[in-house]
Amino acid sequence: MRIAVVGCTHAGTAAVHEIIARHPETTVDVFERRADISFLSCGIALYLEGTVARLEDMFYDSAAELEKLGPNVHVHLQHDVVTIAAKDHQLEVQNMVSGQRFMQGYDKLIMTTGSYPVVPPLQGISLPRVLMCKNYDDAVKIKESAKDAQTIAIIGGGYIGVEIAEAYSRIGRKVIFINGVHGVLSHYVDHELAELVSDELRAHGVTTFLNEVALQFDSDKQHAFIRTDKAEHVADLAVVCVGFRAMTELLEGQVVTNPDGSIHVNDYMQTSDPDIYAGGDAVAVHFNPTGRDSYAPLATNAVRQGKLAGRNVFGNVVRYMGTQSTSAMRLYDKTLACTGMTLKRAKTEGFNAASVTLTDAYRPEFMADAYPVTMVLVYDQDNRRILGAQLLSQHDVTQSANLVSVMIQNRNTIDDLAYVDMLFNPWYDKPWNYLNLLGQMAVEQADHLNA
Ligand SMILES: Cc1cc2nc3c(=O)[nH]c(=O)nc-3n(C[C@H](O)[C@H](O)[C@H](O)COP(=O)(O)OP(=O)(O)OC[C@H]3O[C@@H](n4cnc5c(N)ncnc54)[C@H](O)[C@@H]3O)c2cc1C
Repeated sequence: MRIAVVGCTHAGTAAVHEIIARHPETTVDVFERRADISFLSCGIALYLEGTVARLEDMFYDSAAELEKLGPNVHVHLQHDVVTIAAKDHQLEVQNMVSGQRFMQGYDKLIMTTGSYPVVPPLQGISLPRVLMCKNYDDAVKIKESAKDAQTIAIIGGGYIGVEIAEAYSRIGRKVIFINGVHGVLSHYVDHELAELVSDELRAHGVTTFLNEVALQFDSDKQHAFIRTDKAEHVADLAVVCVGFRAMTELLEGQVVTNPDGSIHVNDYMQTSDPDIYAGGDAVAVHFNPTGRDSYAPLATNAVRQGKLAGRNVFGNVVRYMGTQSTSAMRLYDKTLACTGMTLKRAKTEGFNAASVTLTDAYRPEFMADAYPVTMVLVYDQDNRRILGAQLLSQHDVTQSANLVSVMIQNRNTIDDLAYVDMLFNPWYDKPWNYLNLLGQMAVEQADHLNA
């Protein structure tokens, strides 16, 4: 069997490992337009703030290592796949160094081309003082330009914008944070936690401009000028982080895609063309809270889907479980962790949803550092199923988000959360774990006990 893998960051790398682990005789042709593979973009903020000293440490694999997996693994770096003729099982590939083009046949194709940062069609967006934030090259530019730039404007209040704003503020830069809607992290948290996140940014010297839309960029030798619908801001540099879009043009019209361009796959990561599998940011995930396709570009989804594509390309055996898009980020000395849907999204998706918000110390107050945890639980009032949760605390709440994630996947209810068995020890929590209490609050609300 000859398998072509197009794109080799997380999904592509995971696919190649899986193919060779189970079928070492396979011929695998990997085409990657970059000169590297497997870069962890989460390292950009860590590198900028100095937590990670060497950007090279953010690669966990290389072309040479992949080729060592088997004699028939061929990794073609700086090779761009320019067209795909799916019916003929042919790729047209350009060697980006020599400029030469050639055709490459395949029996099966794994499409792991990922995403590109959304570049809003604004005047001045391509100016050198306006940067994007996605890959290794962006990381180098961001770090390099931070040496001279004192004032940085961040455009976009998703988790990457917030992470980068924090990193710049940690290294003593003045940060202007501009977000088109009022709530920061609007895909992840409802307004209560959004307010707390904004407060946290402001408490660390970040100037926030919310509900303000960037319209145009301009620059002179030293400055970037950002005109919004409300004001003109002057910075030394602007970093635009307004989301990601699936990179799927090569298969346009050849496989079924969603209106947002992401590829639709079945439970086995197989596209509508039986010989083409796909995974990662190029693909829509099966979002368990709604049971529908959703676009959730996360490394977690990419590695899972890539591995499954590499497994199922030999025959559909392992189903994708879907996702709750569980995620977490550090916010100065706090942790924010989220899973499933916000209340706003749940309502937009047509659920008769409600939420409760609770703040409680994670362990008994007689213990030192009994940090408060602020939590939101979103549930369906019709069947009491849990739809989402958001947690913010100085305590590490990441595993609590993972627990709620499993409960959403298992279609558990607020009643399950209220009474599910969780340990007690004063070092770790109270006789009722804070998630139990959150579940109980939702039960009381659903049963109108406080009406
Ligand atoms: C700043 C930042 C921080 C992040 N932090 C987190 C985090 O903390 N947790 C988390 O879960 N996720 C995080 N993510 C998201 C995560 O990085 C992505 O979900 C992940 O990179 C997707 O992997 P992928 O392999 O599907 O696609 P990509 O990483 O987009 O890689 C696709 C690859 O395909 C190549 N390619 C595309 N087209 C072609 C072609 N025609 N020919 C040849 N090669 C091609 C590209 O060069 C690229 O290398 C972060 C992203 C960013 C930008």
